[in-house]
Amino acid sequence: MKSPFKAILITKQDNAQKVEDVELTTADLMDGDVTVAVTHSTVNYKDGLVLGGRSPVVRRFPMIPGIDFAGVVADSSNPNFKPGDAVVLNGFGLSETHYGGYAQAARVKGDWLVKLPSAFTPAQAMAIGTAGYTAMLAVLALEDAHVTPDKGAVVVTGAAGGVGSVAVAVLAKLGFRVVASTGRPEEEAYLKSLGAAEIIARAELAADPKPLAKERWIGAVDSVGSRTLANVLASTSYGGAVAACGLAGGMDLPTSVAPFILRGVSLLGIDSVQMPMPRRLQAWERLARDLDVSKLASMTRTIPFAEVRRAGQDIVAGRIRGRVVLDMR
Ligand code: NDP
Repeated sequence: MKSPFKAILITKQDNAQKVEDVELTTADLMDGDVTVAVTHSTVNYKDGLVLGGRSPVVRRFPMIPGIDFAGVVADSSNPNFKPGDAVVLNGFGLSETHYGGYAQAARVKGDWLVKLPSAFTPAQAMAIGTAGYTAMLAVLALEDAHVTPDKGAVVVTGAAGGVGSVAVAVLAKLGFRVVASTGRPEEEAYLKSLGAAEIIARAELAADPKPLAKERWIGAVDSVGSRTLANVLASTSYGGAVAACGLAGGMDLPTSVAPFILRGVSLLGIDSVQMPMPRRLQAWERLARDLDVSKLASMTRTIPFAEVRRAGQDIVAGRIRGRVVLDMR
């Protein structure tokens, strides 16, 4: 493993955050029982916010950002991991309270690590990343709420983004009729290639929400929040369920109780960060089964670590299609 190695470090001075390229050694890393040579990371929406230097996500300074990484164990005193094991990690406070994936080395608690599923290379695991794993958590939540393809269509909002692209591909493979909502009409062919049956304009779901509207879908994966989520709820059919996993359009939720008490609709909250290990492993197993690697490749672009900051700006501006992998080597 490289030491010194390249990293990004966020420091705080006079209430302003400074984002710098630095060289560190393994002695600079935080405590943990497994040290990993990081080969790949990725750019999620939250990473874009953190790289912008104004996000409340970081709760300890200095901090290495990057909410996820994949790599190879270099050193371990944890009985479950040995040098050479390929691993993937997301959440558990990376980039918030513990040094994250934007470094060529990481030291973490072995209890946070997932052994890389044999179906995926480290690059593919990061093509999925937190965004894709969260999309799978949303799909699992819909399944638990008895949302099945025979009952109707599902809508995916922010469809051309990371969570959205994986959700579209997985739901289509599971046999759902997928309605994809996007603000980028030029991505229609892309979304159809992932399996979307119908494209609707983002603006359609951004209007002032009514308590109830025409029933259009039995389920939803929403990464937008705000008025979009309110409109999605208003158009969810009797007994349906909506998995809320994001806030790309805003953190508010201007809705009423009408969908819940008049149509029995359920709102399912999705948090990927603190998700217990058994559900994580289930999500990765299901991704191995239900996400076509050819579709994953078609939604993914790989860039060198040096370009991470520009990708961070792009994702916050809604300019990234699908997923971005960082080659950290
Ligand atoms: P992306 O930026 O890749 O995708 C978000 C998509 O939302 C965009 O591509 C765009 O899709 C749409 N969008 C962007 N801005 C707006 C806007 N102002 N109004 C309406 N739609 C908009 O991000 P990710 O997929 O990585 O993350 C999506 C959301 O999910 C984020 O809010 C993120 O924080 C959250 N998230 C939550 C997790 C959890 O644990 N709950 C884990 C991972 C992500 P289009 O152009 O197709 O309209």
